[in-house]
Order: sequence, then C-alpha cells, then structure tokens
Amino acid sequence: MRSAVVCALAFTLTASSLRLVAQSSPAAAADARFRAIPDAKSIGDYMRRLSARPHHVGSAYDKDNAEWMLAKLKEWGWDARIESFTVLFPTPKERVVELVAPTSFRASLEEPAVAIDPTSNQKAEQLPPFNAYSIDGDVTAPLVYVNYGRPSDYEELDARGISVKGAIVIARYGASWRGIKPKVAAEHGAVGCLIYSDPRDDGYFVDDVFPEGPMRNKTGVQRGSVLDMPLYPGDPLTPGIAATPDAKRLDLKDAPTMTKIPVMPISYGDAQPLLAALKGPVAPPDWRGALAMTYHIGPGPARVHMKMTSSFDLKPLYNVIATVPGSAYPNEWVVRGNHHDAWVNGAADPVSGTGPMLEEARAIGTLLTQGWRPKRTIVYTFWDGEEPMLLGSTEWVEQHDEELRQKAAIYINSDGNGRGFFGAAGSHSLEKFINAVVKDVDDPETKLTAWKRWQANRIAGGSAEVKTEARTRADLRIGALGSGSDYTPFLQHNGTATLNIGFGGLDEDGIYHSVYDDFYHFTHFSDTDFAYGRALAQTAGTAVIRFADADLLPYEFTNLADTVQTYIKELQALLKQRQDAVKERNRSIEEGVFAAINDPKRPLKAPQIEDVPPEINFAPLENASTKLTRAAERYRKASDAVRSKLPASPASALQPINARLMQAERQLTDPAGLPRRPWYRHLLYAPGFYTGYAVKTMPGVREGIEEKKYDEAESEVLRLAKALDRETALITSVAADLEKLR
Ligand SMILES: [Zn+2]
Repeated sequence: MRSAVVCALAFTLTASSLRLVAQSSPAAAADARFRAIPDAKSIGDYMRRLSARPHHVGSAYDKDNAEWMLAKLKEWGWDARIESFTVLFPTPKERVVELVAPTSFRASLEEPAVAIDPTSNQKAEQLPPFNAYSIDGDVTAPLVYVNYGRPSDYEELDARGISVKGAIVIARYGASWRGIKPKVAAEHGAVGCLIYSDPRDDGYFVDDVFPEGPMRNKTGVQRGSVLDMPLYPGDPLTPGIAATPDAKRLDLKDAPTMTKIPVMPISYGDAQPLLAALKGPVAPPDWRGALAMTYHIGPGPARVHMKMTSSFDLKPLYNVIATVPGSAYPNEWVVRGNHHDAWVNGAADPVSGTGPMLEEARAIGTLLTQGWRPKRTIVYTFWDGEEPMLLGSTEWVEQHDEELRQKAAIYINSDGNGRGFFGAAGSHSLEKFINAVVKDVDDPETKLTAWKRWQANRIAGGSAEVKTEARTRADLRIGALGSGSDYTPFLQHNGTATLNIGFGGLDEDGIYHSVYDDFYHFTHFSDTDFAYGRALAQTAGTAVIRFADADLLPYEFTNLADTVQTYIKELQALLKQRQDAVKERNRSIEEGVFAAINDPKRPLKAPQIEDVPPEINFAPLENASTKLTRAAERYRKASDAVRSKLPASPASALQPINARLMQAERQLTDPAGLPRRPWYRHLLYAPGFYTGYAVKTMPGVREGIEEKKYDEAESEVLRLAKALDRETALITSVAADLEKLR
C-alpha cells in the first residue's frame, strides 16, 4: 500500500548529533563500507524481474518471485527460508455496475492494454479491478454522491435532509483510507458502495494522463482492500492468532472485518454517466471534482444495479525470511521489511522498495565475505499479502509474538519509494537515531546530504513555527505511524520500536493499484535511474548495521518526552476547540442566526442545541509527562557519558542494560488494547477508527473526545499516565545502572 508511505511522507514533509558509534570503531567502518556497495543498475534489474508479471497473493508469479528471492538470499550467504500461512483471499467471480434509470449504461469495469506499455496486456494473469473483502451482493437502488464518504461528509448530507438509507452511495477516492467509505456508508444505512477516482485528485487535473503522462487515465481503476483494518489487520478469519493450516478459523459470516455492504471500484470513465444522471441539490464547492459537469448529490433519479460475487478461497502466503546470526547478541534482533506482493505488476508499489531491500541484502552479504559479522542478529523479511491487509507481516508477528517480545530491538519498514525528499515516521525513541543516519547519506540530485535536503524542505514548506524549529532543533521531527504498511503489527500489536522510511514527494502519479503501475511507467515517470532506490538501500542498510553493531542500543528518550508533551497540548487544545465550537453554535442558535441566513429555496436543517463537552482532568497525564521528561534527561546524560568512553564498558555489563532497553517501547502498550479494538495495544499510536491510514496519537483519549465519549477519554488519560510511568521507571533504572559504569 504505497499510499501509506506517501501519507507518512506527506505528514513529515508538510508538518512541521550525536554519532552513535565512535568513528574509529569497526562498526563505523562497516556502515561506511556498506554505503559504497549498493548499485542502482542492480536495483533496476531486480525491479524488472519482480514486476515482469502480475504477482498478487495466490498467483503463480507471486510464488515464483518468493522462490527467486530465496535463491538470491542463499547465494549471498543468508540463512533463508519461506514461512507460509494460509489466509482468506477472495477473488471476484461476477462484477456488474449499471445505470438502470433514467437511461441505461453498463460500466466496462476493465483496464484496457496500452500498446506502448508491454506488460499492460497480461490479461490472463491480471486480477480485474475489485475491492478485496467486499461481501457478495446484488442490489438495485437510487444513487447518492457522498464526496469522500467520511463522517463529516454525512453531516453535510444530514444538514440538507438527505439520507442514504436504502441507497447505493458513490464516493471518490482520497482523503481517507478506502475501507472507511463502505464502513461509514453502511453505518448510515446504504446498501452498496461504489468508489471512483476523480480526475481532480489523480487524473488530468494534475498532469497529463498515461501513457502521455504519469496520471490516471479514463479507464484506470484503483484496486484495494476494504477490510476493516482499524479493528484488526491480517487474515479476517484468525484474529490475534497465526493463520496456520490447522488454526481455528471464524466462519466467514462471523468475520467482523468483512464489509457489511458490497463495494466496487470504478474508473472515472465508468463513473461519469452515473454522476451525470444525478439531480437534487448541487454539491457544495469542495465536493466538486474535475469532470466536465455540474456535480449533484441526488438521491436519484439515477438508479444503479450492482452485483458483486467472489470465490472465498484460502490461499497460501510466501514470506521470505532471511537471517544473519549475531556474533555477540544472537537473541537481539534487528528486523527489516518490505512487501513483495502487488495488486498487479506493482513496479512502484511495492517493487520500488523491494528492489532496494534486496540490494541491501546483497551488500550485507558482501560485507560477510569480507569477514564482518554483526553483533546482533539481522532478520530481513520480504512480506507476501501486504496489499489485501498486511497479511504476511501480521500472521508472522502473531506466530512469533512471544519471541519478538523477547528479542526484537527494532523494525525498519519501507514500501514504494520515489524521487525526492527523505521522510520517516515511527517511534520517537528512534528520532535521534534516524536523523544521524540520514546525515551520512547523500541526496542523489543535489550535492547535499539527504538530511540537509529534508531540512530545507521543512523550512520551505512549514509554518513560521515549523521553520524556526527546523532551523534550530537538533533533530528534524519524524511523524507518528497510523497504518497502511507492514509496520503496524510490529509497532501497534507487538510493541517493537519501529521506523517507516522512504524517499518521495517530487513526482505525481495516478497509477496506484492499477495495471499501469509497471516497469514501463516507473522508468518513464518516477525514479527512472533508480538513484533513489540506491539512496533508500544506503539509508536502511546503514540503520540496520548501526543498530546491529551498537554497544549500547541507540534509543534516546528526550525526543519521545518532548513529543508526548506536544500530544498532551494537542489534546487540551482539541477539547477547548470542541467546547468553544459548541458554545458558539448554541449561542448562534439562540440568537436566531441560522434561521435568519437560511435560504428558503434551498433550506438547511437547523442545528440543535448541544451540551458543551465537560472538562477532562489532564493532570495525571501532565504529571506523568513531567516525570518522563526528567527521566529522559537523566538517561541522556548517563548514556552520553558511557558512549564517550566506549569500548571501556564490557559487553557483559551492557548486555543486561540493552535487554531492558529493548522493552522500553513495550511499556507504552497495554495487553487489554484500545477500547473496542483490543488487537491494537499501543497507547500512543494507532490508525484512526474513522480515518484508517491517518494516525491518532494518544488514540484512547483523542478518539474519546472526538466521538463524544468523555468518560472514556477521562479513564484513558489514567491508563496512558500509567504507561508513561512504566516507561519512566524503566528509563530511570537503566540510567542508574549506566551511572554506575561511568
Ligand atoms: Zn505497498
């Protein structure tokens, strides 16, 4: 799901050192030697091979790719194997979308081959456009246009007195994760959901369309999963446990993450006749796309018939797992991952990340032949089944949950990669670490380091506050992770400190999850010489090697404490803003403002007086945060002193300290999980229940306020304060032990 990486990058690009290993140590030499090895042409060769044919879950070429990577990894000296799981992966049998009134039109639901693009004609192996994990359905109903289909869009409909009960909704892609659209539509009583790609968002409004340009053409369709990921990702039939062949499975009808209504994706060529047949109110200005017509909301007179049926088969997954055992600390793991499955050929998503990761594996193999051995165990993971819903990574983490809790020190994820600026999101205890790594990577297009270009982009694009901070703070801030790629099970279920990294931001494209995301498109409109693929390999490999070889694990907690403080301020501001908004609206209602401005010819429903949100006691959280800040500062001083004297401290003294540090991120998790979604255990970071990709930080409290569950928000404050206290206790005790080593 490349979108997620793009999301993560967008967050870090628009929102707002210390050397970890002494220069003279062999570790520094290893990561510097590593950076000279990755080769852009090799990355291009892997990408051509991996994207040569469609390779979705269950396809012949998906397995073929896994076996080819397995052989390569073995050739490069890795101990490699395939770990397989058995998962539900429905594929379409019947797909019909037609306008039945006032005129008739039948949607093509096909993406035709483009003559100049050599892989776009591999019809026999392509999955047609569909949304995976839609339930079967055959419905005929009036059509209603719902903009992006977010909860706020339904508030607009309510104000106009428009209901979607018993209707088929048509939503445009974008603004939220696609699975939110059918979920919210079903909550409002819709019986079917169509999702189309409006040219305003990723078509001709932005740039020329494929094959003349990079954008989505009239027939391009975005495939994608609509499983209810914010509840839990992975195989819908085996929540919380690994999908082994003999696992106890839910009945399909009981699987809570399946959609409640049938869902299908369509191109704007297929959507235009349906939208053009709508009457009723004209859509508000920010609902209008770039089709040459007036956008109406409906309902009707357009009536649509949609039929969607699937084969609900179990399919095998092929995760390729490769390890180099640690020479000193074999039970401390540095895990690196990127998925290898795609919706079709997937040169951008995910092969532009898989290719660089393979090159990292080759380069590490080269270091091994030169006699280097990592101190910690390095685990390279090539995931299958990411596109349907993080299947390979989730099942693997569920299978190895206990072992990972003991051994996983870090997980470093990437997905599709492009040309432009570095971006990172993840655990804030790793913020300083990744900043230092990127200072040693060259940006391919400027003579700057990747860090300098990242900083310049922050300064150029940020608010006054962001500009000042980017100029003066030692480390550029990294974003927080919601969901949309394989980091989710590691960070939010297992509690492993996690980073998601990549380059991008300079090239627009509109081929995401279509047959046109292929090698031809990538080599004409993206990182055409694979220079940013090489930069990704250099960045991720440097991070892996430094983490694997560090004497004292390079977590750092002052940036975490600082981030926690900003989140608390955000929550307080959110509550105040909600209170002020309700007070203002109540006052306007009492003054008769809404009645006075209403247009009697196009009346909006009058808003109702509402209770003002109550005060929430944030004091426990503020107190916990103050203590965390103090502990983090104490740890910083103690760890700096120890690092400055390395290697004076013997490994035997540092090993028990490192073992405890590996548990730091897990202090922020709670085995009970988040309210109504226990699979998500991290109390600082989660995908939004109604946003999907986008993160909700301090989700229990934040979503409590947003969803007007104020008692719950108040009790979540206490639970979060306890988690911060656990973190403080761990950091304080480790700092005390480090002080003894000085
Ligand atoms: Zn992806």
